[in-house]
Amino acid sequence: MAKIIIDRNRCKGCGFCVVACPKDLIRIDKELNIQGYLPAMIADNDNCTGCALCAEVCPDVAIEVYK
Ligand code: SF4
Ligand code: SF4
Repeated sequence: MAKIIIDRNRCKGCGFCVVACPKDLIRIDKELNIQGYLPAMIADNDNCTGCALCAEVCPDVAIEVYK
């Protein structure tokens, strides 16, 4: 089963991955990361298809996709 892991402390909270996910599985967290940004978080890894669109748009290379 596919899944993603977001490095929350690398993320700058731009939200590109939130918009890019066709399954609407990524949210912005409510707690700041170590850099002082609200980072992205995976809300529902069970429905991830592994399409990697989220990782492709991330300017900070903070998302890893596992298939
Ligand atoms: S790999 Fe695809 S389905 Fe999975 S979280 Fe990223 S954009 Fe969404
Ligand atoms: S695209 Fe990357 S930097 Fe932007 S919110 Fe998503 S994980 Fe964070």
